[in-house]
Amino acid sequence: MVTAALRSALRPLARRAYATSTLGFAREVEGFVGAVGNTPLIRLNRLSEETGANILAKAEFMSPGGSIKDRAALYLVQEAEEKGLIRPGGTVVEGTAGNTGIGLAHVCRSKGYNCVIYMPDTQSQEKIDLLRMLGADVRPVPAVAFDNPMNYNHQAARFAESLDNAVWTNQFDNIANRNAHIVTTGPEIWEQTNGGNLDAFICATGTGGTLAGVTRYLTEKSGGRVEGWLADPPGSVLYNLVENGKLQREGAGSITEGIGQGRVTSNLKPDIHLLTGALHVPDSASINMVYRLLDEEGLYVGASSALNVWAAAELAKRKGKGSTVVTVLCDGAYRYQARLFSRVWLESKGLLQHIPDKLQKYVVL
Ligand code: PMP
Repeated sequence: MVTAALRSALRPLARRAYATSTLGFAREVEGFVGAVGNTPLIRLNRLSEETGANILAKAEFMSPGGSIKDRAALYLVQEAEEKGLIRPGGTVVEGTAGNTGIGLAHVCRSKGYNCVIYMPDTQSQEKIDLLRMLGADVRPVPAVAFDNPMNYNHQAARFAESLDNAVWTNQFDNIANRNAHIVTTGPEIWEQTNGGNLDAFICATGTGGTLAGVTRYLTEKSGGRVEGWLADPPGSVLYNLVENGKLQREGAGSITEGIGQGRVTSNLKPDIHLLTGALHVPDSASINMVYRLLDEEGLYVGASSALNVWAAAELAKRKGKGSTVVTVLCDGAYRYQARLFSRVWLESKGLLQHIPDKLQKYVVL
């Protein structure tokens, strides 16, 4: 029986503006794979106030494998199953800078496959450790360009070829990756903005799956009203390609991991013409935003998420007051904390000076 006292205690709760997802988790979900996707869309309050716009970010760090790449990992494996490329007890092989591998390792454990990951040896120790803890066979290889046969992707392809009942999921050029975002991320953003109440979507690309898939869905669904924009780190060729048609590197390398590209992948290719423009984001802006998001929003996210948010705020300034710009928080900072929160590392990259005095208290390592 609900007593009068209980009823009056519940009343203020009911009136509070809790974010109730229309997508929701009304019922149980089926295993790890059932928990992928349906992430909250977070309004970044301070940046929204500052720009007079709505800066909204999809919280992909809340995915069960901890990153945006869970979605692609799931679609890559499901497609291989549907095409009969892998049978029970088989092996999934991939070349990845980390997050796709982590997503795949989770999906493989939950479905009973073996997982072999080739990765460039420049990636953070945290990601390598996590992959191994998830049971993946991790093979760090020298970081060489894509046109070198020893590039991690080609090594992954050759190894899968040499095994029976194994698939190279090929995240860069297999459009099952992009499809994951056409089918899940794009529609979620549409629904979470009350039927497409947004002006633009912007994010960085690694494989291009997120940017291409979401842009395709939102531009088509809105009849071209919603714009898609690229945010690009130093060392990538895509900024110049989108802005002036030249496949030309802009700047040297970046502290960001998992983003920036030296070529147009098959995931990006079909939709690159849909992009309205690109913003180049220096590392100084990305690192500063890592610390601002922590201090102002209580969000502990990696450098690619921070880069995306900086670019979303810049784009919102261009679009003007009242505009709405959506981006993604690709993963948490846990995977990079030994670097991003280390004084010595920040100094070695010349980035410590871009963290204002009042935020230096967060540099604890
Ligand atoms: N951020 C991080 C941290 C990533 O690992 C990746 C994927 N490599 C991305 C962003 C980019 O995602 P996508 O591959 O869909 O372009």
